[in-house]
Order: sequence, then C-alpha cells, then structure tokens
Amino acid sequence: MPGLGPAGFRMRPHPRVLEAALAEIERQHLTRERRTVEALGRSDSGAAAAAADVVVDGRRLVNFCGNDYLGLARHPRVTAALRRAAAGWGVGSGASHLVTGHGVEHARLEEELAAFVHRERALLLSTGYMANLAVITTLAGRGDLVLLDRLSHASLIDAALLSGARLRRYPHADAGAAAGLLAEDAASGSSEPVRLVATDGVFSMDGDIAPLGELAAAATACNAWLAVDDAHGLGVIGATGRGSLEHVGGLGADAIPVLIGTLGKAFGTFGAFVAGSRDLIELLVQRARSYIYTTALPQALAAATRAALAVAQSESWRRERVLALTERFRAAASARGIPLGASRTPIQPIRIGSAEAALGASRRLLEAGFWVAAIRPPTVPRHTARLRITLSAAHTESQVDALVEALDRSVSGSG
Ligand SMILES: *Cc1c(COP(=O)(O)O)cnc(C)c1O
Repeated sequence: MPGLGPAGFRMRPHPRVLEAALAEIERQHLTRERRTVEALGRSDSGAAAAAADVVVDGRRLVNFCGNDYLGLARHPRVTAALRRAAAGWGVGSGASHLVTGHGVEHARLEEELAAFVHRERALLLSTGYMANLAVITTLAGRGDLVLLDRLSHASLIDAALLSGARLRRYPHADAGAAAGLLAEDAASGSSEPVRLVATDGVFSMDGDIAPLGELAAAATACNAWLAVDDAHGLGVIGATGRGSLEHVGGLGADAIPVLIGTLGKAFGTFGAFVAGSRDLIELLVQRARSYIYTTALPQALAAATRAALAVAQSESWRRERVLALTERFRAAASARGIPLGASRTPIQPIRIGSAEAALGASRRLLEAGFWVAAIRPPTVPRHTARLRITLSAAHTESQVDALVEALDRSVSGSG
C-alpha cells in the first residue's frame, strides 16, 4: 500500500490529515503510549530484592514486560565494564567500522560471540533490526525468494521488503508448508533464484520455538539458506544457554548457516550480531549497507557485553532461575484457570482478543503495581491482542505469585 500511512490515510502534508490519522488510531484502541521510567527500584535490604522494579509516574511497579531475562542489565560487573571502557575509549566510536570506528573491544567481542555459538566468525551490528536487514538484503535480491513465518518479527519482514525479493509467508511454525513453497518455487521457475528461509528461534510475542530441525531439512533439500533470529532464545534456553538451536538438538553450521542474536535482551546491553562462516561474515562486511553506512557501536557497550556474556556463562543459576520462575508462574496461573499458551520460555502471552480488552487488563494490572504491556495489532494479528508477560531472573518468587493473583482479578471479565 504505497503512500498509505498507519491508519490507511494518504499522508499529504496537511495538518488535518495527521490529526485524522491519529484519531483513527485512537478509535481502534491502538494508540501506543510511552511511559517514562523515572527511576529504577532500590531496596534498603539489598539491590537484589528490587532488581525488576521501576518507578513510573511516581509509583513503584514490578516490570513484567521487559526482555532482561537474566537480570544482567543492572549487573555490577556489566555496568562496571561499561564505565571502565568509557573512561578508556570515550563514549562515541566516532565513525563506522570500515573507517575508524572498529576497536579492540569490538574485535574481542566478535571472537567471543563466535566461540559462544560455535561458528567461525561473528559480526557485531548496532541493533537486531539492522542485523536482519544486513543478512536478508545481502543474501537475497530482486527475483529471489524469501520465505518467512507468518508471525516473524517485523524486522525480518522489513528486511525482506527492502531486499526486493519475492516475499512469501507460511503458516506459523509450519515447516511442511515452508517445504511446499520451496518445492513449488523450484518447480515453477526456469532461472535458479536464491531462496532464503528466515525465522525467529523463539517467537517474540508467543514464546514458542520454531521447528528448526524440520526447517533445516526443508532448506537443505532445496539448497536454500536458513537464517534463524534467536533474539529471545540465546542466553535463555538450551542446556548451556546457547538458545533455540541447542534446545532443539545442537543444530550446527551445516543446518543453520546464518544465526542472528541480539544483545539487548538476555545479555542486558545493546547491539546484535550475525554468526556464520568466515565467508558469510566477510561478505556482510563488504556488502551489508546496515553495517557499512552507520556509526560503530560504542566500544564501551562492546566491553559491557563481553562482561555480560561472561556472567551469563559463569552464573548459570540465572538461566535456571528464570526458567524455574516461568514454571512457577505457569503452575500458579493454570491453577487459577488463567488461559496460558504452550510456551515454556520466559515469554508468557495471555490472549485476550480485542485491543480494548487487552488495554483494560493492562491498566488494571498497572493499578495493582505490575507493568505488563498490552500487545496489540499490528505487532500481533487482529483479534489476538494479548498481555505479554515476561519473566526475569531478577524477579522474586513472591512477585511472581502476586502477579498471578493480580492477573486473576484483572483478566477475568476482560475476555
Ligand atoms: C527484539 C528483536 C529484534 C530487534 O533487535 P533490536 O536489537 O532490539 O533491534 C529482532 N528480532 C527479534 C525476533 C526480536 O525480538
């Protein structure tokens, strides 16, 4: 729909048009509000007791919708690494990686990330959004085929659109359908386009895990690329925290040649990376516009991420804790008849349906002291608005129990 704005309006440069577009968004209960975090929760009895608390509008809330799964964003070793590196390197990197912005902290982090995910090389990018743009626009172009899961993250969709490739989407987690589309494409064309399948590892709004083994088999059978964006899996799931690939059975570089990870979630910092073969990474360095034409991530952030990666591995109790809290949440919620999805990851959506009802439930939770965002279209499909609850190792057992009690009161009567 070229030229159409968020509410289907043609955005001609007249103030009334913008006003009408905003009113239409409001009418559909799709207005997004930014709440300003004024302070982080502190506790007299030790920082750990308030590690997930924030102050918003002067009120203390327990944050149950962030992505700091391991509680590393405020970890003293991580913040100290950031401070120390900023003192040595300054704040801004001053240029792109290919000019003068690439430093030793970046280089070391790339090596450590590659080692962590068992790939030959890794490339650091500023955000996961940009990492997905880099991968898809470098590997696919006009005339090629990109296959995405129906529920894939917006950045994968945008990347596919930007690439100019043909974009087709298969039903959620349906590897058979993906295989069918690949085979159909192979049978129909005379030319041999590049085919690329990309999927979230853990789906960001549902918390379920992609059928990676089956997708890998389908991609291999059709000589297609498979890229897995494991933004919500790395650091969290798998026997040693190596994410969705480890969870489904240690898929190696042959099965999953392109792996994307983000650093702003489980690792508690900021940035992203692509991991794969030496040549894949070198091609991204040479070609990926979202890598080349942007200022390098600050070195201090790379240093902080190195610390976070080390802590995530040495303090494996964090991973065990967030998963144990997830199970505690699920047991308590299902005992009260709160409708849960199938997810066993720290992303626990509660489907409400209408955007209005989801907002209402979110507001009632806020009044009870819990910050749980209502996720509405277009982030999720129509009529599937939901509360997206996320657990963190920073939560306490009693906070989780209290959330379930509040949910019981807030969700009933909102469906
Ligand atoms: C958050 C997220 C991204 C974007 O990562 P940023 O570093 O926040 O830009 C990409 N893919 C998925 C699946 C995500 O959940």
